[in-house]
Amino acid sequence: MMRIFNTRTGVKEFFIPQDPFEVKVYVCGPTVYDLCHVGHARTYVNFDVLKRYLTSLGYNVIHVQNFTDIDEKIDHRAKKEGLSPREVAERFIMEYFFDMDSLNVTRATRYTKASEYVPKIIKITERLLELGYAYRSGDAIYFDVEGAGGFGELVRDLKSAIVDEVRASGKRGPFDFVLWRITGEGFESPFGRGVPGWHTECVAMSMDNLGEVLDIHWGGKDLIYPHHECEALIAKALTGKRFVKYWVHNEFVLLKGQKMSKSSGERAYIRDVLKRYSAEVLRTWILSSNYREKIEFSEESLRKAQLLYEKISRAATKARGNEGMGQCAKDYAELFMSALDDDLETGQALSVVEELSDRVLEGKIEGAWRIFSLVESVLGIKIRPH
Ligand SMILES: [Zn+2]
Repeated sequence: MMRIFNTRTGVKEFFIPQDPFEVKVYVCGPTVYDLCHVGHARTYVNFDVLKRYLTSLGYNVIHVQNFTDIDEKIDHRAKKEGLSPREVAERFIMEYFFDMDSLNVTRATRYTKASEYVPKIIKITERLLELGYAYRSGDAIYFDVEGAGGFGELVRDLKSAIVDEVRASGKRGPFDFVLWRITGEGFESPFGRGVPGWHTECVAMSMDNLGEVLDIHWGGKDLIYPHHECEALIAKALTGKRFVKYWVHNEFVLLKGQKMSKSSGERAYIRDVLKRYSAEVLRTWILSSNYREKIEFSEESLRKAQLLYEKISRAATKARGNEGMGQCAKDYAELFMSALDDDLETGQALSVVEELSDRVLEGKIEGAWRIFSLVESVLGIKIRPH
C-alpha cells in the first residue's frame, strides 16, 4: 500500500481515499501573468507522476486544477502592454498548456478559472457573514480567523503581526484576511464592486467540482501558509468538516541558492531550458530527486540527467520487444514499484532503472522491456530509440 507524506501530520501515512476506487484531487494552478519556469515544471511533473502512479494502481483520479486569472500582477502586465487583463490571462493559459504538453504532463480532468467562479465566491462570502465568521471593516470583508477557531491545520507557532499595523488596517485580529475587497471596479457584488480574495477562490472551485472533502490537495511548498491554511479554515467554517485528507506539497527549485520564483526574478523558463535539453532530460532531472527535497538547478545536474536518460534509452532500445520477465527483471520491477509506494521516491525508482539498464547493457538481463514501459507510463519519461 502506498504511503504519502501528509503536511498536516508531518509523517508518511498510508494512502486511503474516501472512495476505494476514486481519488479526488485539487491542485493549485498558476497565476497567469508570465511564462512557466522550472519551479512550475517541478510542481506539475511531480504531481503528474503521483496521478499516473495512482492510475496504474487502479484508481480513477479526478484532478481539478485552477488558473488564478484575477490578480493585480495580471492587471499590471496588461497596463504595461496595452492589453486587457483577460487577454493577458488567456495568453498565459495557452502558454501554460504549451509548456506542460511539451513536458508530457497529462491534462487535468477539469480546469477552472477564478473569474468564472465569482458568483460562487460571493455566495461563500455571504454565507460566512451569516455564520458570523466574516465581518465588514472599511472597504473590505474580512475572515475572522480567531472566531473560526484559529489556524493550526498546517502551521503552528505563527508570530502575530504587529498590533498597531493591525489596528490601522481595520482588522479585528492579526491574521484576519480579505474575502472581498471593495475597489469600485471589478465585479458587482452585494458588498460593493470589487475583487475577491485569493483563498476563497480555491475553496469555491474545489468544492464545486469535488465536494466538501478532498482526498489530496497538492501545491508548491510556498502555498502552505497563508494560502492553504486559509483555505482549510474557510472550508471548515462552511462545512464543519476537515477539508482535506492528505495535504501534499513539493519543495522548491533553487537557482544560485535562491528559490526560483516569478517574483524573485531568479528563474529559468521551461522553454529556454528546452532549447538546450530535451523534455525527457528535464523530466528525468526533476524526477531524480524526491518531491520533498530541494533541488539546485544547474548545468552540471542537467548534464548528469542527460547521461542517465541516454543510458536508459539505450538499454530500453535493446530490451524493446522482449516481453518475457525473468525472476531478475521481476525483482527490479518490484523494487521500482516499492520505491514509488514509499512517498513517491522517484529518485530511488530511477536508481533502480539505472542499475537495471547497466545490467541490460552488459547483457546480463533479458526481457526487461516491461520495466522500461513503466518508465514511460508511470514516470512519464518517453523512451526515444537510441
Ligand atoms: Zn489555491
